[in-house]
Amino acid sequence: MSYVFGPVPSRRLGFSLGVDLVPFKVCSLDCIYCQLGKTTRKTVARKEYVSSAKILSELEKVLTGSKTIDYITLSGSGEPTLNSKTGEIIKKIKEMTTIPVAVLTNATLLTDDALKKDLLSADLVVPSLDGATQDAFEKINRPCASLKIEEIIKEIIDFKKIYKGKMWLEIMLVKDINESEDELNALKSAVEQIKPDKIQLNTPVRPPCELWVETLSASKLIRIKKFFGNKCEIIAKFNRKGHKAYLKNVEDEILTLINRRPVTSKDISSSLGLHINEVIKYVGDLEKQKKISSKIYQGKRYFQK
Ligand code: SF4
Repeated sequence: MSYVFGPVPSRRLGFSLGVDLVPFKVCSLDCIYCQLGKTTRKTVARKEYVSSAKILSELEKVLTGSKTIDYITLSGSGEPTLNSKTGEIIKKIKEMTTIPVAVLTNATLLTDDALKKDLLSADLVVPSLDGATQDAFEKINRPCASLKIEEIIKEIIDFKKIYKGKMWLEIMLVKDINESEDELNALKSAVEQIKPDKIQLNTPVRPPCELWVETLSASKLIRIKKFFGNKCEIIAKFNRKGHKAYLKNVEDEILTLINRRPVTSKDISSSLGLHINEVIKYVGDLEKQKKISSKIYQGKRYFQK
């Protein structure tokens, strides 16, 4: 399978069947915390980066199996909504199955009215908003030059007014970058206007793109959660150990590869035929268990013994 991966256990979505709408790594942002690594093609141009017919044909095959799937999630190797056939793909999935469709998006393309219309048929939209001032937006998300956070926030507000599905707004908090009182006040004001169904606080728990990125402490996250009010939650760490979808043999295969020589997530993905998103979850767990470590070399993160 090239475009469909999983189902993988997700902290928020249970068993999530991932669908890649763009190749690695096409995105309108180059977030400092991105677990996929640096953006190699930074663009705001929407087009059919991956053939919708191929995606749907793969998906049809996977859905005929008897797997437990809680959500079909459009996400993957970059910003999914850059694919100009997003709307058509969602509609076709809804014709194939009753499994709800979620879209994880950085929301930067919502300035395109056609995309707003495309997303109306999704059951769940999870936009991210990490900074509500241009300064914080540029620091944390390193956007394409044309993107202005004020306009993006306005478009998220407009979209929420017409959207009938659920919206969970994700905020990724990075130590010393977007957690100051001023930044949090600006974010809160944006959130109050957007009126999402949930606000989900996150902090980089998997190896980020930049080595210097630091997570927020649990106590600080709890204080910020209170500040955002009762719709706000901290995304709890999903316990993959002991979970049906956490495969010990996959962990062993990854360790065998890393024991031989330092490798990137992309190397592991190509060697073992696993989707990069799946690899990231395993190496994140292994690093936390201190079974492996990582270092940045020539802009890429290498995992080693
Ligand atoms: S975190 Fe998402 S929005 Fe940010 S660079 Fe990575 S893929 Fe793009």
